[in-house]
Amino acid sequence: MKTPMVIAGPCSPESKEQIDYLAKILSRIPGVSAMRAGLWKPRSLPGNFEGVGEKGLPWLSSVQEIHQIPVATEVILPHHVEQCLKHNIKILWLGARTTVNPFYVNEISKALKGTDVTLMVKNPINPDRKLWLGAIERVMNNGITQPVAVHRGFSVHNSPHYRNEPLWPLVEDLKAHFPEVPVLLDPSHITGNSYQIDPLLYFSPLENYSGMMIEVHEDPKNALSDAAQQIKPNRLSYLLNKYFTNSDAIQSIKTTKTTDHLLSK
Ligand code: PEP
Ligand code: MN
Repeated sequence: MKTPMVIAGPCSPESKEQIDYLAKILSRIPGVSAMRAGLWKPRSLPGNFEGVGEKGLPWLSSVQEIHQIPVATEVILPHHVEQCLKHNIKILWLGARTTVNPFYVNEISKALKGTDVTLMVKNPINPDRKLWLGAIERVMNNGITQPVAVHRGFSVHNSPHYRNEPLWPLVEDLKAHFPEVPVLLDPSHITGNSYQIDPLLYFSPLENYSGMMIEVHEDPKNALSDAAQQIKPNRLSYLLNKYFTNSDAIQSIKTTKTTDHLLSK
């Protein structure tokens, strides 16, 4: 079955109860294929919530077992990879701040060689085509045969519209270079606020994407990180229904290469 890959969940899980509650709801929303939950949060300013870290790993593995949904988290250091492997976390991602660093990209992808973990590579913070394509090439050279790219937008000084500007032509360029690499859209980190997500999806060239990664929280305004951009689960259902099951745009997504195999491990 050809289905879009939709990864939804909190920017960062705050407690076991919260992640259980969200997993129960998200795993029942048609179209949600995996849950996201960033345990280690690289924050620009010190003093902000940096995620619960290692303590949350058993929460994520229990979500995978109980709710039968693969969970994705961000890895920044090679020892995060080791810890995630011990807890059987199914999907890992390189964040924008890590994709910029070829040494970290190498260390992390080497640590994953030979495993069945899916590695996602977010675009780097700055709009540098070579950094993103280079990181993808590097992970493939290190034996990660089926990485997934994530377009989370690029930091542009005084961006008039969004937290991070989407660069649609750069995604086309990436697809031309790596036709086998699925690309997910991350509307949360592009817009930086929940009210622009719907219009962004409306204007996005969804036919170039194999799905999306989106931040969902049960009480966004009280979230410990990225409060402005997280949406509630019922809003996710609405958006999935509007863009990922009914629209013409998603019909073209459905006919692109399936990503089911990446999630069925
Ligand atoms: C995130 O996904 O929560 C995150 C920190 O993303 P990025 O690396 O895109 O800033
Ligand atoms: Mn976030």
